[in-house]
Amino acid sequence: MSEHVYWQPELECASRSELEADQLAKLRQQLAHVSERSPFYKRKFAAAGIKSDDIRTLEDVRNIPFTEKDELKESQLALPPWGDFACIEPIEAVRVFQTSGTTGTPVRIMLNRQDWFETFYEQFQHYRCGYGMTEEDVLFVPFNYGLFMAWWGFQTAMERAGLLCVPGGGQSSADRLKAMIDWGATVVCGTPSYLLYLAEMAAKGGPDLAGSGVRKIIAAGEPGANVQATKKALESQWGAECFDDVGSTEISNFGFECQAHEGTHVVESMFLAEVLDTETDEALPDGEVGELVLTNLACTSAPLIRYRMRDLVRFNRQACACGRTFLRLDGGVLGRSDDMFHFAGVNVFPSQIQNLLHGVDELSLEYQLRIPRQGSGRPLTIEVEPAHERLGRPDIERAREHLIETVRYRVGVTPAVEVVEIGSLPRVEGKAKRLIRED
Ligand SMILES: [Zn+2]
Repeated sequence: MSEHVYWQPELECASRSELEADQLAKLRQQLAHVSERSPFYKRKFAAAGIKSDDIRTLEDVRNIPFTEKDELKESQLALPPWGDFACIEPIEAVRVFQTSGTTGTPVRIMLNRQDWFETFYEQFQHYRCGYGMTEEDVLFVPFNYGLFMAWWGFQTAMERAGLLCVPGGGQSSADRLKAMIDWGATVVCGTPSYLLYLAEMAAKGGPDLAGSGVRKIIAAGEPGANVQATKKALESQWGAECFDDVGSTEISNFGFECQAHEGTHVVESMFLAEVLDTETDEALPDGEVGELVLTNLACTSAPLIRYRMRDLVRFNRQACACGRTFLRLDGGVLGRSDDMFHFAGVNVFPSQIQNLLHGVDELSLEYQLRIPRQGSGRPLTIEVEPAHERLGRPDIERAREHLIETVRYRVGVTPAVEVVEIGSLPRVEGKAKRLIRED
């Protein structure tokens, strides 16, 4: 294993009590800041009868109301374009980002100079050290950046850290594959779906990725980098070490996988993380799956307090083999609570099915899940493609039956598996839409 490098060892490797004392001081400061600068939080705290000084321990944070994404949207609809949750005036902003809007109206987030150039820099240096990236690396980002935060932030921070960064937007996937070889890329990032798609293209007469100089791939935007079978597929197709990066535009990037590859660390010096029961909202012990709730401890422009991420995670606060004590999300983000669906008496996570599918070599890594209306009598359907054209009908039939059996045994639901033509399932650059809820 490579030698571990830290950005702030005094915090990353601190004892839990030292870390929590640091978090409490930052939390109190942040609450005072939003109480003074954000009309949205002033209103919220007044309605809940909370004053920032009332928060004396980390547990007291549970008395503060949650922040929901819908509240941010409503605030911006009522007072366009920024709403009133930010702590800065628009004149102070130097950057704007926007959520994808896949679940309705997008949310806009503005950042001041301090956050864009300093806070983000610090945040992503944790990533750089965790991934083991150095000044000698060449970063290639095969993505049209647009208004998405993740890759802009990553690239800007890596440039300042002295890495050569090659923006890979505005070109076809074939050109990107060629460009990453021509520029001597050693680190490539993207969504797991798109990285798999690039590998699939490369296998059809493109460059030899496994033999290329790419040594690390960073996957973000969807569960996948930490879905074991998907990760294995990414690593073998790229011949590279795969790292998970977790974040969202509203709260920014909050976690990274280290070189020990035993979960995804939360940058606890900059975020306060809670894991709560999805039904009761009570705090859960480590090891139990619940919803992630985050508070920005470092961002000053539009910090969010107790923001409901709708991501399902499992905490692990044992020290990691890398030496960090920052808590880990075992298996990364396990799924979205919005994506979890109830079928035939079972809670099903699409990532479970993805993991099983990616363990079947005869099938490609692309899939779509069709969830019928409850009580329709129709089965849950998984659409898949054969892995390549050389497979005969009996091979495909065996693979199909194998997938039905494993899903039946491991998930507890008997699916229908439809094998469709190679290339017929949609490939996208960003987040793949794999879940179709039928009427
Ligand atoms: Zn670690």
